[in-house]
Amino acid sequence: KESLDQGLQKTKEGFLSKITKAIAGKSTVDEEVLDNLEEALVGADVGIETTVKIIERIEKRVAKDKYMNTAELNRQLQEEMEAILVDAPEANSYAFDTPLPAKPYIILVVGVNGVGKTTTIGKLAYNFKKAGKQVLLGAADTFRAAAVDQLTIWSERVGVPIVKQDMGSDPAAVAFDTAQSAVARQSEVVLIDTAGRLHNKAHLMEELSKIKRVIQKVIPDAPHEVLLVLDGSTGQNALEQAKQFTAATDVSALAITKLDGTAKGGVVLAIANQFKIPVKFIGVGEKMEDLLVFDKHEFVDSLFN
Ligand code: GDP
Repeated sequence: KESLDQGLQKTKEGFLSKITKAIAGKSTVDEEVLDNLEEALVGADVGIETTVKIIERIEKRVAKDKYMNTAELNRQLQEEMEAILVDAPEANSYAFDTPLPAKPYIILVVGVNGVGKTTTIGKLAYNFKKAGKQVLLGAADTFRAAAVDQLTIWSERVGVPIVKQDMGSDPAAVAFDTAQSAVARQSEVVLIDTAGRLHNKAHLMEELSKIKRVIQKVIPDAPHEVLLVLDGSTGQNALEQAKQFTAATDVSALAITKLDGTAKGGVVLAIANQFKIPVKFIGVGEKMEDLLVFDKHEFVDSLFN
């Protein structure tokens, strides 16, 4: 809770100050308060569509209860924000020490370069290992030498094995090797890094489906999870990336990074509302410990309190 509060500090400051301004000098909620509230939500990168949805719901309640005061407004706003996050199925049902539904449990990690994909894999490996699970990493982002090197550094730092090949080799071949190795080693969780190139949709789609196909030669029901990593500090750009990746492949979960140091944390709501894909993890710093399992209630609570 403390690291969440710290991680969301900037979003909270921006957001709360705007909310405070929106209701300054008002005892009841009127048109002007709602307009200002709308502005505050858009300003925190909640996004137009999601903001309109929230405002409309509040308007309905205000219409019923003409004398709603601003303290009540605050409470209703929190409720509406949580409701948006609930819309994502099975959110919050995840912890590192819960038994996984398959062994090995293969997580394909996708996302464009620079969003924090490697770091997120490292943090996940750390958490799963800490929870007592056997972890294996697969370095299938073979297009950038730095990607393999960085993942290797994480594997050493966390103390988990890694499967890799030379830079430039076929990413699908690395994925295949990783799956085979996971079976041989009896790994429990396998995190496979993929290249984050977004030249065009067809290409991305082809590359990811090839990786999936070869993994399925070893483990027919894998990957069990396709985790899309998005950089929360890029606000609406993250939404655009989510659009492209969800069009290219079946994304089953989201990790939203870099929520520390940004005031755009409201984008988590926009993404949840638009894609109905559960946000499972959020990144609130560069260190191993700075990955949190997402909890909608704690998240909203942190923004207000
Ligand atoms: P990749 O290219 O997607 O694999 O990105 P990296 O994992 O290499 O991360 C890019 C940069 O973002 C690195 O400097 C990371 O330390 C940093 N980073 C990743 N996640 C977070 C986060 O949650 N918070 C902050 N502040 N920095 C992060």
